[in-house]
Amino acid sequence: MADPTEETSGAQPKAPCDDQPNHPAQELAVVDLACPRKDKRQNSGGSRTIHKTKLGRPAKLSTSLDCTVSKTLTPNRVVELPPNASTDSQDVIARLPHEWEQKVTSWGEPAYRGRQVFEWIHRHGVLDPAEMSNLPKALRARLVEEGVRWPLAMISSHLSDDRTNKLLVGMPDGERVETVLIPQLQDPTVVTQCISSQVGCAMGCVFCASGVAGLKRQMSAGEIVAQVLLGRHELEPDQRIRNVVFMGMGEPLHNYDALARALVLLTHPDGIDLSKRRVTVSTSGLVRQIDRLGRDFGGQVQLAVSLHAVRDEDRSAIMPINRRHGLDELMACLRRYPLSKRQRITIEYTLIKGVNDSIADANAMVDLLRGVPVKVNLIPMNPISASDLQAPDSSHVMRFQQRLTARGLSVFVRKTRGDDVAAACGQLAFHPGKQTEARSLRRA
Ligand code: SF4
Repeated sequence: MADPTEETSGAQPKAPCDDQPNHPAQELAVVDLACPRKDKRQNSGGSRTIHKTKLGRPAKLSTSLDCTVSKTLTPNRVVELPPNASTDSQDVIARLPHEWEQKVTSWGEPAYRGRQVFEWIHRHGVLDPAEMSNLPKALRARLVEEGVRWPLAMISSHLSDDRTNKLLVGMPDGERVETVLIPQLQDPTVVTQCISSQVGCAMGCVFCASGVAGLKRQMSAGEIVAQVLLGRHELEPDQRIRNVVFMGMGEPLHNYDALARALVLLTHPDGIDLSKRRVTVSTSGLVRQIDRLGRDFGGQVQLAVSLHAVRDEDRSAIMPINRRHGLDELMACLRRYPLSKRQRITIEYTLIKGVNDSIADANAMVDLLRGVPVKVNLIPMNPISASDLQAPDSSHVMRFQQRLTARGLSVFVRKTRGDDVAAACGQLAFHPGKQTEARSLRRA
């Protein structure tokens, strides 16, 4: 997984982790859910996998986190859900402060208790009512009855040599998704978290492991946000999550209502309080939903678009969504996406040797993106054992980048992160049954 918030402008693309010794992944069986940090300390020398053998709540918050409820609430900072946003009354983790206020007042409690519940869950990551120490016992018991508990459980974590940490999390119905914690290279205390929005994916991109089984089910807003609550438990004491990117399993815009609510929750000032500019929604190109996102959030949420090919014929072969919304339609949509002056849409472009890496491709990209405020992230393809498709060599990547730059585009080359624990960009895990189709793109 490349950290989309890190840019390596003008740098020579490196082979994955070529500045690290090539440690084989170690596997540790760990039964003790109560102390994952102990295992990290004992095994800091290389990538390793920690299996947690039962579902349950994550370990307690680090003592360095302030778990007291703040006395100063922020009732005046109203965060609105988009119009017509749906409410899932069963999804208790996804309730907003005013919804908790309504709920607790219906139980005969004062309204401010509702905000306290929201703060416990979203600011402090405490989902066990028994630990909500400033609430009356009767209310805590009511919250248990209401279903306030962790909607996710950590099953295993896979820590890379470069400290990228891939978490496998389970849901009560047995489904599993992955989320990845990616410390910045320059400052590892600053972490970007990549989160999932669906179990599986209906988009069927041929180069993506998430599309293998198709869409199994949508994730609820509570499940989406709980990935971040759970991710915070896995940080080292000096780390904090500063960016969240929807680039894990699923097409987030295909689960729009849950996405919209999750965006409001993630950025709520009484909760996790991320800046909207630090939340990125990545899409394969669902045009109507991009328009809706722009309308609902006024362009404040960062948008990333997986392009990967610059001609309809090529893109349709690897991304079926392109057959419904071709490149002209997609570019017109991006041109009208509301952006502030300095904001740009991120274009993700995976460079595959002999497929989409020619200078003619670079020129076509410049023509295609004309008039769209973008920055381009070039991602040299991760090596996949089941495929003979490869990244171009670094000098070729540089030539491609230079051509784009010379013709006026802002271009960055991503350093791949976490590939030794298979946390590298999921878009590149080739679908074994569809390799032939992907290979057919290779030019003579
Ligand atoms: S690349 Fe994204 S949109 Fe395409 S199948 Fe994978 S998860 Fe879905």
